[in-house]
Amino acid sequence: MTHFVDTHAHIDGEEFDADREEVLKRAREAGCKAIFLPAIDVASSRRILDVCRQHEAFLFPMLGLHPEEVRADWQEQLNQIKRLAGDAPDLQPTARSPLLAIGEVGLDYYWSREFEHEQLLALEQQVEWAIDMGLPLMIHCRKAQNELVHLLRHYERELHGGVFHCFTGNAFEAAELLQFKGFALGIGGVLTFKKSHLPEVLPQTVPLSRLVLETDAPYMAPVPHRGQRNESAYVRQVIARLAEAYAVSEADVCAATNETVERIFGVKL
Ligand SMILES: [Zn+2]
Repeated sequence: MTHFVDTHAHIDGEEFDADREEVLKRAREAGCKAIFLPAIDVASSRRILDVCRQHEAFLFPMLGLHPEEVRADWQEQLNQIKRLAGDAPDLQPTARSPLLAIGEVGLDYYWSREFEHEQLLALEQQVEWAIDMGLPLMIHCRKAQNELVHLLRHYERELHGGVFHCFTGNAFEAAELLQFKGFALGIGGVLTFKKSHLPEVLPQTVPLSRLVLETDAPYMAPVPHRGQRNESAYVRQVIARLAEAYAVSEADVCAATNETVERIFGVKL
């Protein structure tokens, strides 16, 4: 069986409290070799370190402050997250750091621009962490690509790559993001939605080597599970749809995305 990595799943969330072990078992049975967990705030950073300790070499931690969680107290939150990152020397996902990446971080102006300025400051500080720690970034961006690209350009030469997670944009947006070397687009359940333009856009503009797979579980479940709780085993549906779109085999999709994961995150699969 071919193996894959779910590069973005909120497995620490309470949605999985009742049956987390079964969810992880189903993931392994579906061929999932590793799951990367992005934090959104202080509490989830703590939970993620705990759950990753219980599943070493299968679950991998990323710490950060999600843009939708940025409020007036963002600096205090960042200080606490930084401390947590320093307090986990027992975790060794890679030779580089107890963390696999900084994330998820970014900008989100979809629901509210109330903390627009604070979001920019929090992102900038976390980009600097990633540079200092030699880590890639797991980036969330919604209705803010211009601002994101503008900020990242300042750091372009120092960045250690990363993922623009849950990419749903057009050809221009894909090309603009992939100007950043060492970055890939995270592709998940949206690809399988009936009205998605991704199956046409991606093969025309993005080489398979610049994509990684993700769920964003518990959100964004692919067809035929759309609307239900998402889980890592469902990445299989995304692999099947990508193979069809790129006219390659599912094994090719897995091989290409696994290689990109190893390159960006420095893990050996
Ligand atoms: Zn997420």
